[in-house]
Amino acid sequence: RQWLEWREWFSFRFCSHSRFVDHAIVCSRDEAIHTMTKQHFDMLVIGGGATGSGIALEAVRRGLSVALIQSSDFSSGTSSRYPTCLLLQGGIGFRESGFRARSLRQFCLDDKAAIERPKYLQQTKHYVREYDVHVIQGATDNLFYFVASLFLRFISVRFLSPLSPFRKRGMTSLIYKDHLQQDSRVNVALITTATAAGAICANYCRVVSLVDDGAGKVSGATFLNRISGETCAVKADLVVNATGANCDFIHQLLPESMKNVENPGNKEKLGAPKVGFHLVLNKPVVEKGKGFIFPAQDGSVTFFLHYHGFTLAGIEDWDHEINEPLDNNQIQEMLSELNKFVCCTLTLDNVQSAWTGWRPIMKNHTSVRDFTIDQTIPGVISITGGAWSEYRLMAESLLDRIAPQ
Ligand SMILES: Cc1cc2nc3c(=O)[nH]c(=O)nc-3n(C[C@H](O)[C@H](O)[C@H](O)COP(=O)(O)OP(=O)(O)OC[C@H]3O[C@@H](n4cnc5c(N)ncnc54)[C@H](O)[C@@H]3O)c2cc1C
Repeated sequence: RQWLEWREWFSFRFCSHSRFVDHAIVCSRDEAIHTMTKQHFDMLVIGGGATGSGIALEAVRRGLSVALIQSSDFSSGTSSRYPTCLLLQGGIGFRESGFRARSLRQFCLDDKAAIERPKYLQQTKHYVREYDVHVIQGATDNLFYFVASLFLRFISVRFLSPLSPFRKRGMTSLIYKDHLQQDSRVNVALITTATAAGAICANYCRVVSLVDDGAGKVSGATFLNRISGETCAVKADLVVNATGANCDFIHQLLPESMKNVENPGNKEKLGAPKVGFHLVLNKPVVEKGKGFIFPAQDGSVTFFLHYHGFTLAGIEDWDHEINEPLDNNQIQEMLSELNKFVCCTLTLDNVQSAWTGWRPIMKNHTSVRDFTIDQTIPGVISITGGAWSEYRLMAESLLDRIAPQ
């Protein structure tokens, strides 16, 4: 595996695909929308998160003409809302889930990520910082972390300082190196690089319907320009649905003329999303360059990260409806949960901001980190799931899948 990692890293390090463009003013948003309505594209990508932007970039680099539509700001979906994805995660959590579920496949998923990670870090090194992540387990009560601390090279064991606010949860922590990335900036760099390479991208445009070519295939979409209020159409040979948690919504836009037994237009492919709750606290609970993670027996984690001078705290698997605004009671509930981990008391006065994020999970998924490519609707290809750090791998898989067509 080490050899594979080096080989991949060297070949990637010296190829032009590893470069990001920091700024590119090719045309204004209005000009981009005008071009979209006039030109016929090889590919229309719906969704300007990590997945959609990565696909647009990979597609233009392969010589396709590409249009990308994003309903609000670029990266305003899961790609910027799930702070654990700020950590590129040494894959330790996934190895643990695989270990616990006795699933070799899930355990080995991290190998794919481990090979991809050096490329990702090479590409985004100016947006990424190294971080010490402390995993706190009451001494060695978790067999996986005990075994991992013995065998995995990146883990070391330390005693917690007597002044540590997490002292009440354990005496020792296992430490591994991870990276904290500025996710939205990487996302915008992807869009900028794709634009510089020839993609036509526009934000504040929401796809409201799919267009039928009359021969049983989707041949484009109509979208609402959310700034001017106009509705426009864009034509493309292939529509890529990279809308994350909204993936089912795009399937439901199937034109009436294309609905049949196989594609009734109301099949839900997504299961319940994984919702995470996050607070930015003005109390300095964690030192600079450090993060603390508390894995629970059910596989979810609670974390505290040092974040631009503040503390970013979060709990995964929180029970909350998607898109519902948060109220003070819910924030208070989360604070009580977080107070179980720290010696000090966190109150509403410490909260600077709060938000939720969600990860789409396919009904037939085997691992949360797995991604799914679905081609049940002619002319539409949907890609859901995966990980931020694997956006390039996902784009490559999708483009390889459609290459023969
Ligand atoms: C709990 C959790 C932990 C994670 N941990 C990690 C990690 O440690 N490491 C890692 O690498 N990754 C991690 N990830 C994964 C990572 O967050 C996602 O893989 C990544 O954000 C990809 O998102 P996306 O582009 O598919 O979706 P999104 O970012 O949600 O993008 C979809 C976009 O489509 C747009 N859209 C929706 N409907 C329409 C429409 N009708 N018209 C136009 N646009 C539309 C939305 O506005 C949105 O911006 C984690 C995710 C979760 C949930």
